[in-house]
Amino acid sequence: MIPDRIKRVNEACKEALGEILLEKMKDPRIGFVTVTSVEVTPDLRQAKLWVSLMGSEEDVETAMEVLEKARGFLRKELGQRVRMRYTPELKIILDHGPEVSERLQGILHELEEERDMSKLGSVICALMNAEAIGISSHVNPDGDSVGSLLGLAMVLSRSGKRVFPCMPEPWKYPPQYAFLPGRELLVDPDEMEGGLELFVALDCSNLERLGPLQDKAASAAMLLNIDHHEDNQLYAGMNLVDAGASSTSELVFKIIKEAGWPMGPDIATCLYTGVVTDTGRFQHINTSPETFAIASELTAAGADIFQVVKEVYDNQSLAYTRLLGRALQRIKVVEDRELAYSYITQMDLVETGAVLPETEDLIDHLRSVRGTRVVALFKELEDGKVRVSLRSRDGFEVGPIARSLGGGGHAMAAGYTSDSDIEGSIAGFVDELQGRSD
Ligand code: 5GP
Ligand code: MN
Repeated sequence: MIPDRIKRVNEACKEALGEILLEKMKDPRIGFVTVTSVEVTPDLRQAKLWVSLMGSEEDVETAMEVLEKARGFLRKELGQRVRMRYTPELKIILDHGPEVSERLQGILHELEEERDMSKLGSVICALMNAEAIGISSHVNPDGDSVGSLLGLAMVLSRSGKRVFPCMPEPWKYPPQYAFLPGRELLVDPDEMEGGLELFVALDCSNLERLGPLQDKAASAAMLLNIDHHEDNQLYAGMNLVDAGASSTSELVFKIIKEAGWPMGPDIATCLYTGVVTDTGRFQHINTSPETFAIASELTAAGADIFQVVKEVYDNQSLAYTRLLGRALQRIKVVEDRELAYSYITQMDLVETGAVLPETEDLIDHLRSVRGTRVVALFKELEDGKVRVSLRSRDGFEVGPIARSLGGGGHAMAAGYTSDSDIEGSIAGFVDELQGRSD
């Protein structure tokens, strides 16, 4: 049995050595070190010091060498902090226990969470401190950028801010989001003041996604980037970017919740719309237990989840339904590439009477073709350029393809704009795909 006196010495040494390692040992090669146990011999001549370290085998070896060299220093510091007849010689031993690494992972996780919370805290401070705030979605706004834009605009406007929520030109308000509350707050890009205190970019992985609003963003005293794209370029002074979040609306939800601002059914409905559309009704790979938890909280806050589904999915214009028919009719499947694609021309729009913003989820109808891992939809724009939407599954990533063709997005949902005509754009894409899968 260890005498109580020695137990106390062990505890005191453990605490002191922990502090010394934290405060005095700044050598980055040591990394994250924890004292797991100290055992002092009854004559106080020797102490075994168990430490656990993080990193690869090589990192750990280097860290142990550095600690070994610092043994004398550690002993001297220990002598100054713990009053003992004799300061023991230290023998440093690496603690390998699996429960140790589990515990350390837990600590690291907590630290990460703390850092995330402090980031959230700074974002809330920035929003609270600014009087006049510009907010923008990306060009060709989708459900997530519209939902997060209106949700954030409403909450800030209610807390007495002057807000300028805006969608960059060229834009047509997507008709399937016409039912969302808060639309009346939207301003034209020209109506947004320059030199604002704060400009918030929502769902934009780079500055180009702001289109003509880039100037307003650049002239603001502070730029805040709230996004969930993994290729986000962290272009702002303050970046709240979480690629693990299902949607930007989820991040806006966290801000509102943490700030304690009242949510209300209208804001909840906007944010829920963002979550539902970006996860493809909770079916895409970005859907996590947290997504459902947030959806549940939004529902509890009064989000009208039935109205969202009815308006966004079960309310297609006849014109769009006919356009969908055309796109489905002309699907091409390239089997060896596991690719399915289709296209829409300006003539299709004229002849059916549909508008491009209502074609946001048309691509989801293509992806259900059996055997495909990649789907592409080519949409001819008014200026003759072609918007290309890409989706993939089963581990195939279209994000890098979109990036190499001048666009971006998520790993499995991405897009770009091509300067060629439809035929040229299809050929260019198939070439790029060919280059990658060979
Ligand atoms: P969609 O096909 O729905 O237009 O876009 C799919 C995803 O890719 C969205 O997350 C969208 O933000 C992103 N994306 C689409 N086009 C572009 C682009 O030109 N540049 C970048 N950076 N992202 C894009
Ligand atoms: Mn999004």
